[in-house]
Amino acid sequence: MKEAKERHLFEEHYQICGLLGRGRFATVYKCMHKETKQYFAAKIVQKQHPRVDMEASILNSFRHNKNIVSLYEVYQDSRESVLILELVPGGELLYILGTVILTEYDMTHVIKLLCSTLYCLHYKHIVHMDIKPENILICNTLHKPAKPAMRLVDFGFARVLQNNRPGNIEPIRGTPEFLAPEMLRCDDLDVVTTAVDMWCVGVTTYITLTGISPFQGETACETVARILHCDYYLGDDLFGGYSRDAVDFISKLLVPSPRARMTAAECLSHPWLSKKKRSKQRQYPLSQHVLSSVRAALSERVISDSMSMLKLNLRELSQCSESNIKPSTIDRNYKSSYK
Ligand code: ADP
Repeated sequence: MKEAKERHLFEEHYQICGLLGRGRFATVYKCMHKETKQYFAAKIVQKQHPRVDMEASILNSFRHNKNIVSLYEVYQDSRESVLILELVPGGELLYILGTVILTEYDMTHVIKLLCSTLYCLHYKHIVHMDIKPENILICNTLHKPAKPAMRLVDFGFARVLQNNRPGNIEPIRGTPEFLAPEMLRCDDLDVVTTAVDMWCVGVTTYITLTGISPFQGETACETVARILHCDYYLGDDLFGGYSRDAVDFISKLLVPSPRARMTAAECLSHPWLSKKKRSKQRQYPLSQHVLSSVRAALSERVISDSMSMLKLNLRELSQCSESNIKPSTIDRNYKSSYK
């Protein structure tokens, strides 16, 4: 990729056509290149932040990976950065689930693409740190018999592990519902390994199959306590329509010990992803009541996001247990993040 261009040239070269989405730091617009009439996604980050350079550098080095969104140009000044990305028109995975008929087999295909993408990233000691359904965009090739294609986005939290050594967790990154237990325990701060992403694959798979976030509690503290206790449900009323392989796949990812968790390579050879046919297939779209619970969970993102930015007192949080949850711990931190 060429050098970043002057920020003011963005409006000269592109016309903004509409909003695609908002993240924690960025607003993403659909835009058209005025000369070629081609459409792109313009990711505008309010302040020039080190995470923009990290994102641009990772996207640049993986530009040949077709499951990772392509970066074409960067416009920058001291106030704002604009990343010109490939437009992924299908939308976020979760919203697709509510509108398109997908089978369990289709879902194994998407998760397989995700795992093979993570395999490539992890091979280069890169941890994405924010794997979740909102960061998995689907291209509009969902018409049968074509298999769904996906693009992984949002590398702003990504970490490059030096000499493949575990990285330090400070400050907390990622969305709390997706934080691996080792990120919340305080026995060791050097806990960032590629296994963190694999935990998120487990949470993402659970959500995409059931429409329910496995550790979502009534309060942020309850969510954290449930993660620390690895307290989630795999009963037949939720998973009865799916193959046993699907349940086994999730249960081998949502394990407290990062060492015991499946790696991306192990996921790819797990029967759920490697078998050609599924005997039981649940049909989508998800029912309306499941979808509304998903939407409610997504609106919780606002709370989750502020939590991820606050300076969580890890020691206090790790003391949360079913009998010893101290909501005041979270509330205090939560409120102080707004001061
Ligand atoms: P942030 O870095 O602030 O978290 P994201 O990169 O996650 O922002 O982008 C926010 C949202 O914008 C995504 O969840 C998605 O809905 C949308 N989006 C991001 N990149 C694209 C793209 N290349 N094509 C289409 N939509 C996109």
